[in-house]
Amino acid sequence: MLSSRMENLHPYVPGEQPKDRVYIKLNANENPYPPSPKVSKALRSAVKNHPEKLALYPDPDSNELKEAIADMLNKTGGVLCRANLEKGKKNGSGATVTPSEFDKIPFVVTPEMIYAGNGSDEVLSFVFYAFFDSAKKLVLPEHTYSFYPVYGGFYNIPLDKIPLKADWTLDKEAMLDAAKKENSSIIFANPNAPTSIGLTRDEVRAMLKAAPKDQVFVVDEAYVDFGGESCIPLLAEFPNLVIVRTSSKSLCGAGQRLGYLVANKELVQAVTTVKNSLNHFPIDFLAQQAGIAACRDAGYYVKAAQAVAFERDEFIDFLREKGWTVLDSQTNFVFCKKDGVNGDAAYKKIKEEGILVRHFATPGIEEYLRITIGTHEQMQALREIMEDM
Ligand code: PMP
Repeated sequence: MLSSRMENLHPYVPGEQPKDRVYIKLNANENPYPPSPKVSKALRSAVKNHPEKLALYPDPDSNELKEAIADMLNKTGGVLCRANLEKGKKNGSGATVTPSEFDKIPFVVTPEMIYAGNGSDEVLSFVFYAFFDSAKKLVLPEHTYSFYPVYGGFYNIPLDKIPLKADWTLDKEAMLDAAKKENSSIIFANPNAPTSIGLTRDEVRAMLKAAPKDQVFVVDEAYVDFGGESCIPLLAEFPNLVIVRTSSKSLCGAGQRLGYLVANKELVQAVTTVKNSLNHFPIDFLAQQAGIAACRDAGYYVKAAQAVAFERDEFIDFLREKGWTVLDSQTNFVFCKKDGVNGDAAYKKIKEEGILVRHFATPGIEEYLRITIGTHEQMQALREIMEDM
């Protein structure tokens, strides 16, 4: 009964969501803070004042949302935690935001440079379909976002997985050598997951200079707002660059499923063609309203990203004091291990105490835990459990 294609499917395993008990969830890199109050207000107003819109198809191209995304990127420079915030606004909501000097984008991001989709997982799926071929290998790090290999199977795209270096950074030279062999595309997350370490923009620029120019080069910036370096400024130099981003982490919006990419408009057009051949209306009316309201209140999310980054650095200090090895994180999670502590046993012990963290049984990283940064209270509860581990 099943098609032969089914044999290539090896579905993604997300962070668990058990129903038997209420856990503190630090296993899926969600944001511990709710979205801006302006998002709740926009949703209430949409349902109350325009219920008829729920009976109609939404804007298939999310034009107002794309404008709001472009505007937010121009205002923040694409890295929320370093953006400048007008003083005096308590939770940042309503504040004027300007980019830090370092992150300033040297051109104006326009809505034509944005494609918006139903979570960045879907955006990534369309990127795989539009730009990667089954005739040659796609180059990616051995340890990176585990959905990439899932899509490799789904679309029958062979992969060339390049081991990370001993310090857990990407082996840029080996990735470039591999890409040159078959004139291949490259994809990685920056900062990378689950390692939490990022490449600088200059390092990515050097890679782009050496990589095949007629192949798309994808950088997944899901976590960049917490302290990485965005590659959006490089779009002026490299027409083959595609940057994928999400509202699930720094815009406190995992529940609303909103992802997007930033690229030159010909590549955006190609992804739009895939969308229009598969699901013409990927973002529902309410998610569009929520996304627009979020992007228009960047100040709130600047504060939230700064709070997460602050909490992360405190937690890293705590872990290191307790003898854990922790990679330097530019994300909303930490990747850590301790000599003599079994990764799986540590995960189970923490779960027994009521907190979910992520453990991967994958060879090479099985000693490690990936822990999402939560609120101060949540991290305090975790510190109490880990105090004597
Ligand atoms: N990219 C990376 C690197 C991720 O870790 C995730 C979330 N697990 C995603 C993309 C997908 O995010 P979403 O579909 O929620 O936008």
